[in-house]
Amino acid sequence: MSRCELAAQVEEIIKDFVRHHPDNSLKDPSNEKAWDEPIVGFSSGADELYEFYKDHIGPFHWTPHEIFSLTFPDVSGVSPKDLAVICWILPQTEATKADNRKERIYPSERWVRARVFGEEANESLRRHVVEALSAQGYKAVAPVLSPFWSRETSPRFGRASRWSERHAAYVSGLGTFGLCDGLITPLGKAMRVGSVVALMDLPPTPRPYSDHRQYCLFFSDGTCGKCMGRCPVGAITKEGHDKEKCYQHVHVAAAAYAKAKFGIDGLGCGLCQTGVPCESHIPTAEDV
Ligand code: SF4
Ligand code: SF4
Repeated sequence: MSRCELAAQVEEIIKDFVRHHPDNSLKDPSNEKAWDEPIVGFSSGADELYEFYKDHIGPFHWTPHEIFSLTFPDVSGVSPKDLAVICWILPQTEATKADNRKERIYPSERWVRARVFGEEANESLRRHVVEALSAQGYKAVAPVLSPFWSRETSPRFGRASRWSERHAAYVSGLGTFGLCDGLITPLGKAMRVGSVVALMDLPPTPRPYSDHRQYCLFFSDGTCGKCMGRCPVGAITKEGHDKEKCYQHVHVAAAAYAKAKFGIDGLGCGLCQTGVPCESHIPTAEDV
């Protein structure tokens, strides 16, 4: 099988799950889908950006080779270039985005369900990809599901972890970062990311950008800034995203609201991901 055929097959494993798997559900009475049609990107385990992240984010951040070696210590002779990073973007549905656009302080019920049950579906998808590849003889691991994965503190960015799926998606040609720290993808910023590292030869997806903030209008032409006004707690300013303020709102205040209002043990917010020019596509000046 050629590299392109293999890439198409991997892409189909992911898309087929999102289209048909019962786990892709908001778990509401009508069993509405959590995620719309995804996009998929690949990068090489030898991409120099993965080494760069060790300096940029922190020395704790894994390269693909590190998490692969931790997971498969008995497999020898594997070099970074033998590995592929598979990433996908799961876009929120129009119904979920429409509900959250109307909110001013706390997330809508659909958004909370996507954050909780949609992320469970994403976990299921990560496991599904690993199992499907393993069944074909390819060794694979989902870094964020690894027992070695942990949260860390970045000297430069504060809250971090040993594997950032948004950064892997950036390397894999799927988007650039916005003022609010979210990844702006061709399907917009209202989405979740998933990733798997595999011992297989896949063609890297071209990165149609030269700067890590290229798609954000605030950085590209000094306009927009709409996400600042959407944040109910002032966590986004011209200086960027205050992770601690955001964390307190998403994980404490909004979590209490989700429990009291919807009876869901969850969290979320996403106000800065909806009702903004980069919500559903790469924004242009006409969107502002
Ligand atoms: S809303 Fe505007 S300023 Fe904020 S991330 Fe999107 S494009 Fe950038
Ligand atoms: S997720 Fe909510 S609290 Fe966090 S930056 Fe976005 S709007 Fe603000």
